[in-house]
Amino acid sequence: MKAEIFSVGTEILLGEILDTNAKYIASELANMGIDVFYKTSIGDNEKRLLDAIDIAYKRADIIISTGGLGPTDDDLTKETFAKYFNKKLVTHKESLENLKSYFVDEDMPLSNLKQADLPENAIVLVNENGTASGCIIEEKNKIAVILPGPPKECIPMFNKQVKPILEKYTDKVLVSKNLNLCGIGESNASEIIRDLMLSSKNPTIAPYAGNNEMRFRITASGKTKEEAQNILKPTVDKLYSIFNEYIYGEDDDTLQEVVVNKLIENNITISTAESCTGGLLASSIVNVASASKVFLNGVISYSNESKVYELNVCKEDLEKYGAVSEQVAIQMAEGIRKKSNTTIGISTTGIAGPTGGTDKKPVGLVYIAISIEGRDTFCKKLMLKGDRQKIRDKTVHICFSNLLKLI
Ligand code: AMP
Ligand code: MG
Repeated sequence: MKAEIFSVGTEILLGEILDTNAKYIASELANMGIDVFYKTSIGDNEKRLLDAIDIAYKRADIIISTGGLGPTDDDLTKETFAKYFNKKLVTHKESLENLKSYFVDEDMPLSNLKQADLPENAIVLVNENGTASGCIIEEKNKIAVILPGPPKECIPMFNKQVKPILEKYTDKVLVSKNLNLCGIGESNASEIIRDLMLSSKNPTIAPYAGNNEMRFRITASGKTKEEAQNILKPTVDKLYSIFNEYIYGEDDDTLQEVVVNKLIENNITISTAESCTGGLLASSIVNVASASKVFLNGVISYSNESKVYELNVCKEDLEKYGAVSEQVAIQMAEGIRKKSNTTIGISTTGIAGPTGGTDKKPVGLVYIAISIEGRDTFCKKLMLKGDRQKIRDKTVHICFSNLLKLI
């Protein structure tokens, strides 16, 4: 079973809106084991839509289309598919009632009436979240699924009404698992398992580079979910054994969540002293629900005076080594930990740019330090690339990945 996704609307071609419907539907179809080889965007134009339908049915069995079901004259998706399949439009009673129920406080414009006209003999998908009904036309082994454009209408309609019907057309189930890694880049990780990736057909292993981290998506297909899961498992286990030190979580797990949850589970309190990240680290900790159980204090210590006053950094060391130095990073982490009476104190100090860099201390030079009660303070020098935001984001990420190793 091959499907092609249509996104109908001139606004998509003009770059005015992002085609999120196609993205969502594509990933759902992939999970269902329905192949998508082409996605097509088409303006609100009958001739071009007819051409696109013609082309699509030469290479796919099913078109899933979103958009162009509105009340105005330029909305013509349903009409054009009906023309292609030689079908009349007839008023659908339940759709008309649904449509009228949306106009309790004002008169319904007559133009809306056409939203209740649907191709004869189609399966009608009444819209629970709007006025435009969708429909499914099936004719000579070709299927058209026609859905409204607004994502709040299209996605529930797809999930609730279309998926159960599509499931009947596919005899395979895909199961995927993402392994999320930090501390190793996409190319290094892929190189390590190059042969395994090339030889794996079922399951497949695909690497994805993310923001400061990477993931492997392992996908297996089987006749049933259980069969697919059984095919998936040995490869997942193998990747765990190879990348154990880098895998921090699976699927939707984020690094900050995993780290903060580990702190919570083990009752480890933490405080932050930030210079170049200016609160970003504290904010990332606070993003995780229940962070208040372990995050007790955060200081944004931007000036030298504040490093002395707030964190007890030695004034002479500041003058001797500079604010961006190993010595100051360590004293910041130890200072905030003692002041806040937490198990861990973590600090950042660096030059995020674009100005302020020198030959000896260029933009991108950052020190992070982690002070843990009863242990030597950990400190790491980083040489980061990118703009100001990227350097700050990356610093926070590296704080979390090192914290994970230490707790
Ligand atoms: P339409 O039914 O084509 O008039 O679309 C109505 C509205 O739905 C548009 O103005 C967009 O806001 C939204 N929309 C249409 N198509 C898409 C799409 N492919 N992805 C996301 N939003 C869309
Ligand atoms: Mg439109």
